[in-house]
Amino acid sequence: MKHIYLLGSTGSIGKQTLDIIRKHKDEFKLIAISGYSQYEDLLKITKEFSPKMVVLKDQESALKFSYVFPDVMVDYGKNGLKKLASFNKEDKNAYLINALVGMVGLEPTIEAIKIERDILLANKETLVVGGHLINDLKKEYSFNLYPIDSEHNALWQLLNHEKKDHIKRLIITASGGSFRDLSREDLENVSIDQALNHPNWSMGSKITIDSATMMNKGFEVIEACYLFDIDIGKVDTFVHRESLVHSMVEFIDGSIVAHFSEPDMHLPIAYAMFYPSRVETNIKALDIMKMNQLTFEEMDEDRYPCLALAKDAYKKGGSMRTVLNAANEAAVDLFLHKEIQFLDIEKIIREMMDEHHVIDHPSLEEIYQIDALVKKKIYQKYR
Ligand code: NAD
Ligand code: MG
Repeated sequence: MKHIYLLGSTGSIGKQTLDIIRKHKDEFKLIAISGYSQYEDLLKITKEFSPKMVVLKDQESALKFSYVFPDVMVDYGKNGLKKLASFNKEDKNAYLINALVGMVGLEPTIEAIKIERDILLANKETLVVGGHLINDLKKEYSFNLYPIDSEHNALWQLLNHEKKDHIKRLIITASGGSFRDLSREDLENVSIDQALNHPNWSMGSKITIDSATMMNKGFEVIEACYLFDIDIGKVDTFVHRESLVHSMVEFIDGSIVAHFSEPDMHLPIAYAMFYPSRVETNIKALDIMKMNQLTFEEMDEDRYPCLALAKDAYKKGGSMRTVLNAANEAAVDLFLHKEIQFLDIEKIIREMMDEHHVIDHPSLEEIYQIDALVKKKIYQKYR
């Protein structure tokens, strides 16, 4: 029986993880969960799964919660997330599943690494901002980092046992997001509701906006570089509207292998949870005849400047990745609160990156300082 420590249990990935635990009660036991503003959801999950530890948003909600569940260990805030990640240090039969959104996921990941707990990572911002820190920790600690993000999960399946110098390139597909049929001019007055209406995937609001701007694909290029220790020049992206091919690997011998499935995150989550085994899932079987209609389009970085900004931040390195992420988090938040227009998102990110002088290899403290500074500047100017 594997013990699950689940960060972000109330989100889109978190809930799909709970579906899998629910279906495989003999194989997984939920030990700890976190949530943020979704108090009622946390009550329900606790009632159903009886976790030993629950982490809430703040002290007030934690106190309220502990009256309902006096036997559950309750904590809150960023410190609570860190404690959850390393809760029951001696438990070696455990996974931390990180389904938090945003750079708040970085420190709990580090905490789990320090107790050599394996991590199933959905939180890509961890690698965008702190990939270099995770690489440093690899030298000191022994742990596995398994990707849940569908494209990277597909690459992991495709790359199993292949030699790194046999890889010519990794190819990541993108659905194109909610605005794939709109021109740059059309984008000027798009609404939040239009942006949140993703054609192929149902996900949390931040990643849905990141998909519409294509920042999500930029983050995924960076994620691939860290996960598979590969040069950014060997990671390509294409628009693939059907979202049936999730990734491909081209090898030096001319072979290209691809991963196909209906778009459903239950599959990559289950693959990571059961690795190296596989189980039956309830996902819709892929109708092979659909492959008659697969389309691929060259990625146009003028149409999607956020992809170019992300690649640029990765190449500039160090703290520029923190700036990229912090500016994106703040700008997406402002857009979701109707305080800026859709195209302001890329404008704000570019502005913050232009102003920044790169620090190589920033420490966690420096990352926090830069993150706070960038967000403060943006909220002061645009709110
Ligand atoms: P979501 O918004 O649905 O859920 C986010 C979770 O994080 C929630 O449980 C929420 O309570 C928690 N959270 C949010 N802000 C917090 C904070 N400040 N402190 C503590 N907890 C906080 O997001 P999601 O769509 O499930 O995405 C989670 C992560 O997985 C993201 O990094 C996303 O990019 C990645 N991802 C998601 C999908 C998907 O299909 N949803 C696919 C691939 C990758
Ligand atoms: Mg993805």
